[in-house]
Amino acid sequence: MKNKCVDCGNCCRETEMILSARDIERIENSDSKNVTIANFVKKTKDGLYQLKNIDGYCVFFDATTNLCKIYTVRPQGCRFYPLIYDSDKKICVLDQDCPRPELFYPNKQSHMKTCKKIVRFLEKQVLFTKL
Ligand code: SF4
Ligand code: SF4
Repeated sequence: MKNKCVDCGNCCRETEMILSARDIERIENSDSKNVTIANFVKKTKDGLYQLKNIDGYCVFFDATTNLCKIYTVRPQGCRFYPLIYDSDKKICVLDQDCPRPELFYPNKQSHMKTCKKIVRFLEKQVLFTKL
């Protein structure tokens, strides 16, 4: 959920957002109350860390305001969204669940620039911390 789009929240529904060790540390050390790893992190069968859902939404989604409760410390993947990495095709794609990708990625250049950052993030921060 981005500040630019207050009426949607699709990206926070049934999230499968991957977390890096840095993401987890930043969120855990934030000012948010009652944030413990057990509350928001789950491990996938591939050994990666992922955000948990409650009642169909990310644990940090506030359904009354449609906003992210930890916006300033949200995971890196939420910052890249709606650009995501398709690991089967090995390319970055705009997620079909986002109705307004052009708000964030208006042209091919912005898409390509962030794609490089996503690949670097996955290689250096996510796969590196895989358990
Ligand atoms: S951390 Fe925030 S932006 Fe990311 S999925 Fe959860 S509620 Fe949405
Ligand atoms: S799905 Fe797209 S338009 Fe909807 S809140 Fe997320 S980034 Fe914004």
